[in-house]
Amino acid sequence: MLTEPFVTDYCRANIWHVRGNDIDLLVDTGMGICPLAPEIETPQGKPLLAVATHVHLDHVGSLHEFAWRAGPRIEASFFETMPDEATYANMFRNFPGAVSELPCPDWHSADYMIAPAPLQRLLDEGDVIDLGDRSFTVLHLPGHSPGSIGLFDELNGTLFSGDAIHGGFLVDDMPDSNRTAYCATMRRLIGLPVRIAHGGHADSIDGTRMREIAEDYLRRNEE
Ligand SMILES: [Zn+2]
Repeated sequence: MLTEPFVTDYCRANIWHVRGNDIDLLVDTGMGICPLAPEIETPQGKPLLAVATHVHLDHVGSLHEFAWRAGPRIEASFFETMPDEATYANMFRNFPGAVSELPCPDWHSADYMIAPAPLQRLLDEGDVIDLGDRSFTVLHLPGHSPGSIGLFDELNGTLFSGDAIHGGFLVDDMPDSNRTAYCATMRRLIGLPVRIAHGGHADSIDGTRMREIAEDYLRRNEE
């Protein structure tokens, strides 16, 4: 797990590097305040697939640095231009305390832009990402955003859950959020044999904690 320690915690997301036998996987790419690619070490010639769980700013900032990109088909058109209305990059401009250390002396959050990163591979529910020795099934987990996906290794119960579920504050009040869809996602997550969930924010959670969080969400949002 990598992260951007000097970014305000509201926008500080987890970046996951999963080493496979044949290819490596990168799940989400942070804000892109500093170059991410030099921090990701892969053996020469080994392909790296960078997957964005959704198009929000704190998950796609450095996506353009990687040549082989995948993301949810439902949000795919946004990756071609990274418009503010999909990424919410505008929220970060002039955000008080955007960063606690400047990447360079003349850096200003007001100049923050996300470079376009068109997707080579469009992911749908049920697609499989095969790393050679392990594989991940794409789960469509809408609610936080319409296209949000998770990547689930059913054989060992590992879920990369993006912002659909994690141990931090779950955001369901963005313009593209949908609480009805989010409730359905929570019901689905409760039924999955998840052993550990590595989310887009906060510390990883075990399956028991994940189901508690989902049940708590449903109690608060289901009538
Ligand atoms: Zn998000």
